[in-house]
This record gives sequence, structure tokens and C-alpha cells, in this order.
Amino acid sequence: MTIGILGAGLTGLTLGSLIADCEILERNSECGGLCQSMEEEGFTFDCGGSHIIFSKDNEVLNFMLEKLGDNIVKRRRNTKILYNGNYVKYPFENGLSELPLQDNFECLKGFIEVLVNTKTKPVNFKDWLYSTFGNGIAEKYLVPYNEKIWNYDLSKMSTWWVEGRVPRPPVDDIIKSSLGIKTEGYTHQLNFYYPEEGGINALINSLERESKDKVIKNFDVKSITRENSGWIVSNGTERRRYELIIATQPIFEVVRAMEDVPAEIYNALNELKYNSLITVMLGLNVTHLNDFSWLYIPDVDCLAHRVAFPSNYSKCVAPEGKSAVVAEITYNNGDSTDRSSDEELITSTIEELHKKKIIDKDTVCFAKAKRAKYAYVVYDLNYEKNIAVLKRFLNRRGIHLVGRFAEFEYLNMDACVRNALDFVKELNND
Ligand SMILES: Cc1cc2nc3c(=O)[nH]c(=O)nc-3n(C[C@H](O)[C@H](O)[C@H](O)COP(=O)(O)OP(=O)(O)OC[C@H]3O[C@@H](n4cnc5c(N)ncnc54)[C@H](O)[C@@H]3O)c2cc1C
Repeated sequence: MTIGILGAGLTGLTLGSLIADCEILERNSECGGLCQSMEEEGFTFDCGGSHIIFSKDNEVLNFMLEKLGDNIVKRRRNTKILYNGNYVKYPFENGLSELPLQDNFECLKGFIEVLVNTKTKPVNFKDWLYSTFGNGIAEKYLVPYNEKIWNYDLSKMSTWWVEGRVPRPPVDDIIKSSLGIKTEGYTHQLNFYYPEEGGINALINSLERESKDKVIKNFDVKSITRENSGWIVSNGTERRRYELIIATQPIFEVVRAMEDVPAEIYNALNELKYNSLITVMLGLNVTHLNDFSWLYIPDVDCLAHRVAFPSNYSKCVAPEGKSAVVAEITYNNGDSTDRSSDEELITSTIEELHKKKIIDKDTVCFAKAKRAKYAYVVYDLNYEKNIAVLKRFLNRRGIHLVGRFAEFEYLNMDACVRNALDFVKELNND
């Protein structure tokens, strides 16, 4: 039985490495999707945003590490939040003693207040931030930062997705953190891995090597139609026939390629919210810029919400005597960032990071920007209803969805690999 896998990002390639008789159709001339890296002038940048390898799931973590063999380095996270011009330990609630005393007090007080007050179930994400962390932590950091990264009204976002993603602090940690006793949060990511050479794309390369004869590049899936008991997938000129289809490409691309789609399905599809991302990749004439893994920037006077320092993951990502910096900016179709040219965004990012003393603009020796249309799923209040309608429809039609934008869920690399492993296990049991 030949299986057609649509999309050769991490999910498609993982599926391809596990399924003997399959083909992987990829729209682009390169595999990798969000995990692509770019090599230019001696620099290696992850161009779908800076990526690190971590997981609570040992089977999945080992799967990814085995693919990289010796090409791996292990690092301890040293991440900060730029708070009113000072660096505070991440997660914010583990860095309270680094705040001015009054701010520290307000954060602790707010947290105690939510512990002693009767709990009402939060009805939206903003409520959840207040009722989990208290006014101080919410107002000083979590609300402004999340408003920036999501580019969406937090009171119109659901709470459905937050568990396990936005760290929920133990009481002991908050008290210790406020007093200045060292604690760590989000510990499953405290130590992380990164390819020594080749950026995150090294993982893609390894998987692609395993599926070498199965990948068909430059195949933009434009139509998916039923024929007898199988499927015909076409790019407009070429037709491929499969017994079964696994779509890892965004759900939008899947539905739009299908025939006889009822209006209510298009309505649900058009209501799904997502964010796009522009990655500004900078090379600096600096041997050692700082010791940080990455920085979170809640300030509204700087477009980037996160700035990563991949030279601190692996020295190999920059030529001798230089450093690599990656700034990430979320945007939406038609907003002012979307309307700005790459050159304008590069210039403003360099200026803003210079003003915040993160880089010295005179040291910039390389700059490039790359856009990803589908970067973050936004869990608005209608998310659950709309995604259920879509998944029911695709399930009835016999199309299987695996991967971040196919399932339309906030899946990190480990969750994509997990879902691919589980899918193949189930397939083999049928
Ligand atoms: C800014 C950012 C930072 C991240 N950092 C991390 C991190 O540090 N650690 C981590 O674990 N995860 C991270 N992630 C998540 C990670 O990128 C994803 O989980 C993973 O890359 C998703 O892989 P995928 O194959 O499901 O989807 P994609 O990477 O989106 O792949 C889909 C593929 O389908 C192809 N395609 C689309 N349309 C068509 C079509 N019509 N025909 C054929 N092919 C098509 C695309 O070209 C693409 O190759 C990050 C994500 C973002 C946005």
C-alpha cells in the first residue's frame, strides 16, 4: 500500500522515516518547513525562529538525539527577561528577587491574594494569567509579553491550551524566588540540546537522508480527490495515486485542495486564527556578545518579542570572531509589520536592539529577514468549536492530520515526533 505524506517538515520526514512504502510531497525546493536553517557568509541561522531540542518525553528526545549522532551539544538555559532595562531571570516568577523591592513585594502580594481568595474558574487567557499568578506578575510581565507575542486580545483567547505550556508556579518557588533563594522553573527545558553544526536543519538533513528516495520536492499539492478506493493528489500538472493520505501541511492547504467542501467547513476554516513570524537574522563582528541563551522583551517600543543568541548554543553557527543573533517578530496579515519591507524591519530591529544595549549597531556585518506565514496557532474563544468541526469533516472524508499546522495545535518538535510515532503505531496495528 502506498501512502502519500503531504509536506516534508519535521512531521512529514519523521513519518517518512517510519513508513516503508510512502512518498513525501513537498511544495518547496528544500525540506524542513519551520525547521529550516540558512547558511550564508559562514553564519548558520534557524530561519523559522531559533529552535532548541528538549522534551519530557524520553523516547522522543532519544529519537531526535539519535538522528544527530555526534553532532550535538548540550547546554544549560540562561534565559532572561528584559524588565525596565534590567535583566531578570526567566521564568519571571523565578526571578522576583532581581526586581526592585517594591515590584517584588507587589508580585508576592498578588500571588498570595490569589492563593487565599476563593477561586473562580478563569474564562479566558487573561483571566487565567491573573488568577494563576496574581496581579503583580500578570501586570508587570505576563500580560504585556503575551499581548506582544500573540498580537491578540488576551481576553478573547481561551484557557484550553495553557496547561503545561505557561509554567504554573509551585508556592514554594514563588516564596523562595521573592526572598532570593535560587529556584528553577520550566525545568524540562532547563537543559537543552542543539546540533553542533548545521543549525536545527541538521535534524531535518538526517531524516531526509533516511527518506532520500521518497521525497518529491517542488510538488505543491493543489488538489486531493477520491478515485475508487484511493486518492489522487495533483500539483496541477502531475498526478500521484495513494491508498492513504497523511497531511502534515497546514489544514488550510488541505481543505482548499479538496472538492465539494460545504460552506460551513470554509466558515470554520476562515475563523481559525494564527500568527505569522518574521525572523531577523543578524551577524555581528563580536567574539562574545553575552552569556544568554535568549531574551524575552515585553516592551512595546521594540518589535521583537524574543531575541536568541545561537552562538551560545554552538560556536559553529558563526565564523571565528563573530556572533549570530536571531530576533523574532510576530505579525498578522495586513498589519503594519506585514506592510513593512524586510529592509525596514531589519533597520528598525537593529536600532531597537541597539537602544536597548543588546547589540552595538556598528558591529552588524550581516542582516537578513525571513517570513513564515504559519508560525503560531492562536487559541481564540471559538477555537475548540471550529477545530472540532474541521477535524470531524476531514476524519469522515478519510484524511489523516499529523503535525503543528495540520492538527492546528501548539506542538513543539517533540510533540510532532510523538504524534508521528503514535500515528504509525496505530497504523501498524490496523
Ligand atoms: C518561532 C518558533 C520557534 C520554535 N522553537 C521551537 C523550539 O525551540 N523547540 C521545539 O521543539 N519546537 C519549536 N518550534 C516548533 C517547531 O517549529 C514545530 O513544532 C515543527 O517545526 C512543526 O513541523 P511540521 O512538520 O508539523 O510543520 P511545518 O514545519 O510547518 O511543515 C509543513 C511542511 O508542509 C509543506 N507544505 C505546505 N503547504 C504545502 C503544499 N500545498 N504542498 C506540499 N507541501 C506543503 C511546507 O513547505 C512544510 O515543509 C518553534 C516554532 C516557531 C514558529
